[in-house]
Amino acid sequence: MKVSIPPTYEGPKIDAHSHIGRFGSWAGLESTADELIEQMRLYNVSKSVLFYFQNDEVKRAVEKYPRELVGYVWPNPNEGEKALDLVKRALNEWKFKGIKLHPLIHAFLPNDEIVHPIMEEARRAKVPVAIHSGHPPFSLPWSIGELAENFRDVTIIMLHMGHGHGVYIQAAINTARRLDNIYLETSGMPMHTKIKEAIRLLGDNRVMYGSDTPFHEPAVEIQRICSADLNSSELERVFYSNAKEVLRL
Ligand SMILES: [Zn+2]
Repeated sequence: MKVSIPPTYEGPKIDAHSHIGRFGSWAGLESTADELIEQMRLYNVSKSVLFYFQNDEVKRAVEKYPRELVGYVWPNPNEGEKALDLVKRALNEWKFKGIKLHPLIHAFLPNDEIVHPIMEEARRAKVPVAIHSGHPPFSLPWSIGELAENFRDVTIIMLHMGHGHGVYIQAAINTARRLDNIYLETSGMPMHTKIKEAIRLLGDNRVMYGSDTPFHEPAVEIQRICSADLNSSELERVFYSNAKEVLRL
């Protein structure tokens, strides 16, 4: 263990995972586009990838802040044609730049055939697919790997890189090691050491910063990366360049 007080990072950032809207039930959270923009300015975040299951609210937010906010469409694959129509409309008409899937909330396995038409649309539009990870039975890294294996030419962002469970975090890194179309996003993942390990095993272009605001506080999410003993070029890549390149921003 290295014993020292880690640095902070004031440089420009891209947030690969943010929300507005109301998350009731156990979460009890809400935030607006204006609040998100105010928070981004505090932390020197120039762009945030934004998703919420009320997609029209994201559309309005992106229209209001087109330079700062990047819309991702969040369909429920169980809705079949309706989900696919939503994805096509968002990518073609609303100029959204990616797709978000939450297998746990919508109760489907990542590689279920109901997901495949959405993945084919991602392939056609050449946009990334960001997928929540870290909760059984629907959101585990191995299952996301099965999908990534079927769609080797589609970029998949594994949100939370396994999330709060050490075994899942390890599986996220191992799955990404096997499949180079998987990229890891850091929000809500508690172990700073795993960020360094992921960069060592995958290279410095496969890990990107995300906050998952309002579920997590950027100050904490940023400091975890700062505490990971990265060099200045790795910090710059994780906080900015990787998202810019991989998400085509
Ligand atoms: Zn989230």
